[in-house]
Amino acid sequence: MNLIRRHVRKLAPYVPGEQPKGRGLVKLNTNENPYSPSPKVLKAVRAAVDGRLRLYPNPAASELRARLADLHGCGVENVIVGNGSDELLALATRAFVEPGKGVIQYFTPSYSLYPVLAEIHNGVRNEVPLEDDFSLPVALKKSGWKTRACLSFVTTPNAPSGCGYATERLENLCKSQKGVVVLDEAYADFAEEDALELGLRFSNILVSRTFSKGYSLCFQRVGYLVGSPGLIAALDRIRDSYNVNGLGQVAALATLRDLAYYRKNFRLIKQIRSVVAVELEGLGFEVLPSSTNFLFVKPPRFAAKTWLNKLRERKVLVRWFSDPRVKSYLRITIGSEQEMKALLRAACQIIEAS
Ligand code: PMP
Repeated sequence: MNLIRRHVRKLAPYVPGEQPKGRGLVKLNTNENPYSPSPKVLKAVRAAVDGRLRLYPNPAASELRARLADLHGCGVENVIVGNGSDELLALATRAFVEPGKGVIQYFTPSYSLYPVLAEIHNGVRNEVPLEDDFSLPVALKKSGWKTRACLSFVTTPNAPSGCGYATERLENLCKSQKGVVVLDEAYADFAEEDALELGLRFSNILVSRTFSKGYSLCFQRVGYLVGSPGLIAALDRIRDSYNVNGLGQVAALATLRDLAYYRKNFRLIKQIRSVVAVELEGLGFEVLPSSTNFLFVKPPRFAAKTWLNKLRERKVLVRWFSDPRVKSYLRITIGSEQEMKALLRAACQIIEAS
């Protein structure tokens, strides 16, 4: 007898970017923030590491929820915190989609976790291609986007393209939806505009945020959703009792007390992004406009996969996706100035050696 359900045996799991063991690699492959969490955050986490680790954390992350509600000018009933935003995307799938018949839709290319969540849950997938320049489809209805999907995921700004979408356009898209729309704003801190207010204005919209990217806290796994009390309460019913670990709550709370430190980092990352975009263009790369902490680029001379390997030989790690729509691109995280210099040096060497 096979112990594993057929559905699970057939499943293609999510493939995260490589976390290499050795040191010495310039790591530009998983959109981590190059800057450390603020000294105040490190101090708060250190101060929390004592005998209290034996205790369960606050089950509802109450204080963190309250501070996030203050930050966004809403009530605690509008906020749920999760073990990274990934957990909350999975909870949304479970709460809003009837297994076997509910439709889950998203644009392609976008975050590669959505199809995996749909498959795990046995939802009906509706994948709708973005335009050639990765903008939202001009004629939404004609594109195959369904107004009656149970759950629609929209990555905004998009990944891996980096393109930002206008809030007005997103509002129009959401207005026509009968089901729940999750606006996945993992990269909103690096964009010119965000759509958080839509989560507070429409009863079927949830806006997803994370402490991973802008707030340098990937390691701690803290994300949250903002939306109407009805949807938030539904998610709250099905989450694990202690879904946000104690040190994560401590770190996120200390982060919210030191936002000026992070806002400076957002500005710095955006500055480096524009300088590197120009430099790469000078080397013959085609660089898409970015509203995120990464650049999506089409490299010259060799296939993108060859570039991936050649950069790795020179100790620079970037991300490449095999999907036909994006296989001629590389996704390069914006690192520190020093790291980006190393990237540009390696790229020059590769071109000179060709
Ligand atoms: N959404 C998008 C678009 C992402 O790229 C990521 C990071 N892989 C996430 C959500 C998840 O972020 P986290 O679980 O670290 O909050």
